[in-house]
Amino acid sequence: MLRERQLDGTIYDKTAVAIDRIKTMAPIAERIYGGYTVMVSGGKDSSVITDLAIRAGVKCKFEVSWTGLEYPQTVYFLRSEKKRIKDRGYLFEFIIPRDKDGKQITMWKLVEKRGFPTRNMRFCCQELKENTSGNCYSVLGVRWAESVRRKNTRRLHEEKGRLHSAFMTNSDNEAIRRWSENCMKKNEFVLNPIIEWSDDEVWEYIRENRLPYNPLYDNGHKRVGCIGCPMRANKKELEQNPRYAALYKKAAGRFLETKARKREGNKKDAESYFRWWVNFCGGAKGEAYYDEYI
Ligand code: SF4
Repeated sequence: MLRERQLDGTIYDKTAVAIDRIKTMAPIAERIYGGYTVMVSGGKDSSVITDLAIRAGVKCKFEVSWTGLEYPQTVYFLRSEKKRIKDRGYLFEFIIPRDKDGKQITMWKLVEKRGFPTRNMRFCCQELKENTSGNCYSVLGVRWAESVRRKNTRRLHEEKGRLHSAFMTNSDNEAIRRWSENCMKKNEFVLNPIIEWSDDEVWEYIRENRLPYNPLYDNGHKRVGCIGCPMRANKKELEQNPRYAALYKKAAGRFLETKARKREGNKKDAESYFRWWVNFCGGAKGEAYYDEYI
């Protein structure tokens, strides 16, 4: 519940706390960066932070990191959000991820270079979504509730520390995250104003304030993101989107060709690699097979 009565009779209002957090850090955001950058993904959490930032009345702009793998429903929703927010006088931009030479980074190029991303190795989020920001004060919709849902799968592998050390991207929802963070390396500050909100509270806020939200949720989606995202059960999703499945396989084929050139005896084919990815990549069994491919 967004409003709870405390033992002393006072009301703890999570909406007011979130708005207060945004207002508290606003002078720093303004002084260093000219205002906040609210990261919009098209998901329910970003609908909430968008509204909170507007209600807080702070100086901010809105940015979408465009991966090119968004569902059509997400594309239409974000376009309508752009219009709605621009009409209120804010800057709303779609940012295309680019490398240091200015060339567009695509998922296909990433898979070709590094293989399929997995739940524990989401380099795609880092490259396609994170690197578009930096040198700003971002407002994110990160929440602890998401980490509770995932802990049975992700933690397992991260604690092993065998394949890689745990790394965290800005869109991660780890329990160690705080409502305010900073990254000296990227010269970036991060504000997570709804960090302690539950899923129910997010929906309560959306309904109470009659906010527009991504229609994918009404079609049974729990998360929105790229088509084929390893954070979801991507098998069915890719069966329903064969064009994307073919592009993933093609990129994986190029990745395996390079591996085969570098390492004698690598005879894996794109088809079996793809099967592994959609069937096992999120589970312990899948990670055990990972070495075979990388
Ligand atoms: S949403 Fe999923 S597929 Fe898209 S960049 Fe992030 S982890 Fe990768």
